[in-house]
Amino acid sequence: MEEAKTPAASEPRKLNFLEEIIENDLRTGKVDHVLTRFPPEPNGYLHLGHAKSICLNFGLAQKYGGKTNLRFDDTNPTKEDVEYVDSIKEDIHWLGFEWVSERYASDYFDQLYEWAEDLIRMGKAYVDDQTQEEISRGRGTVDKPGTESPYRNRSVEENLALFREMKAGKYGDGEKVLRAKIDMASPNMMFRDPILYRIKHASHHRTGDKWCIYPMYDFTHGQSDSIEHITHSVCTLEFDVHRPLYDWFIETLGIYPSHQYEFARLNLTYTLMSKRKLLELVQKGYVSGWDDPRMPTLCGVRRRGYTPDALKLFCEKIGVSKRDQMMDIQLLEWCVRQDLNARSNRYMVVQDPVRLTLTNWEEGKVEWFDCPLNPADPEGPSRKVPFTGSLLIERDDFMEDAPKKFFRLKPGGEVRLKYTYIIRCDEVVKDADGKVVELRCTYDPSTRPGAGEWRSVKGTIHWVSAAHARTVEIRNYDRLFLKEDMNTIPEDKDYKDYLNPTSLTVSQAYAEPALLEDASGIAVQFERTGYYFKDPDSTEAVTAFNKTVALKDSYRPE
Ligand code: ATP
Ligand code: MG
Repeated sequence: MEEAKTPAASEPRKLNFLEEIIENDLRTGKVDHVLTRFPPEPNGYLHLGHAKSICLNFGLAQKYGGKTNLRFDDTNPTKEDVEYVDSIKEDIHWLGFEWVSERYASDYFDQLYEWAEDLIRMGKAYVDDQTQEEISRGRGTVDKPGTESPYRNRSVEENLALFREMKAGKYGDGEKVLRAKIDMASPNMMFRDPILYRIKHASHHRTGDKWCIYPMYDFTHGQSDSIEHITHSVCTLEFDVHRPLYDWFIETLGIYPSHQYEFARLNLTYTLMSKRKLLELVQKGYVSGWDDPRMPTLCGVRRRGYTPDALKLFCEKIGVSKRDQMMDIQLLEWCVRQDLNARSNRYMVVQDPVRLTLTNWEEGKVEWFDCPLNPADPEGPSRKVPFTGSLLIERDDFMEDAPKKFFRLKPGGEVRLKYTYIIRCDEVVKDADGKVVELRCTYDPSTRPGAGEWRSVKGTIHWVSAAHARTVEIRNYDRLFLKEDMNTIPEDKDYKDYLNPTSLTVSQAYAEPALLEDASGIAVQFERTGYYFKDPDSTEAVTAFNKTVALKDSYRPE
């Protein structure tokens, strides 16, 4: 890791540009408090990109003794739902953050409406009867100024009357809009008379049928920040072109000066994070739901066994930048391993078994071994593991014609059965097809750990007692998409063309009995294999484990 390379390892990391701005604002007295907000639109479940925004907004406030509001940006009644509101709150809590106040942009509809009338009275807004298409065409292009709407110069009285009629429900969807009257030739397209209100006869999940006109994002966001006295409104880079308009509304209305700052959104290799596409995957059944463990949603990665600490570590590692970049999903997986390695319980589970018989073991004898739940804490809590003369080991821990460097079990070779004895393979039993069905071995009683002198052998393998083994279901997850950069899909392709057909495989495995009693609530380590998280839809009959991440990987963060 970077810190290890330099003697400056113990120094705190450099401030990121947002921390610099906040420290400067506090120093110069530009602000006397720090209040940030996280503003999700309740039209889908939160994903890893949102986790970055959450860690940033809540993290900045925490660092500077400030607070954070949760504000639902719920101005689009047709796509939003309370299901999403509830899931968003659950996910933020799961990450370990607490908002000081729960707000809804829809709480501000009355105030926003008043401000719209104020703009009309100032001669800075007008009702436009043009169709959506005519308005778009009239906007011009970056190189070509727009053309003014024929309705642009209506009188204040006429505009007020029409806007009130819009509100009263006199017109159908799309018949009229309210636009700001700014500058149709502005080099910033956002200033070319942006739409403030559109007509939508739709029930809203909070305001019901009170409104049939709804404010646009640009007319809502800055003013909502201002109403709440948000000091630093942090959003993703694509909103930088909106910032001048954000400022224009605040200045023109003469309200509390919130400020917007932009950072690069999170992009991850092999991952899609557009809510629209994630919704399609759910609706069309490509995944089992928003919380399918292959989804990049927070409920998905939670079910997969990722932890809040791993996500926070990841957000800290990727930092905040002003330039878009693609992050390696392996860094996230590395963070998950880091966290789980430190605190997950260990169990032995055999996934592709072959029988191993100890010919010199006393018939029917069971010996219980006390094994630490986490080897980093050998004196800490332990589990009891039964050992008998009839065991299961992984098929690939045995090799008949083994190369020299193969240190696991081979004919005539020795290996230690983890936590227990050293054994030697005396005989290989095969079926008619030549498949190995049993390994007949002898154990050396003098090699019991703690009993006499320690003798070491090169290989250690895991095992379970056949009679005690509990069958569990393993859900092996792989990447949902096969393409590294899912943000650049060729024109003749659909993102779904890149779905990995084997992103989920299900198999059975044989576990030591203590696994089923694990109450840690986090993913466990199947020794020598990987981390696995008990799926909540496990039943009495079938306990299912989702593969969180493999144990080892050659990946190292820079
Ligand atoms: P999507 O494009 O996936 O639909 P969105 O931006 O429309 O996402 P919102 O609910 O509006 O989703 O997002 C809430 C907050 O999370 C916003 O401030 C947004 O900028 C931020 N956010 C969304 N996606 C990312 C991302 N990939 N990386 C960082 N922040 C993000
Ligand atoms: Mg959005």
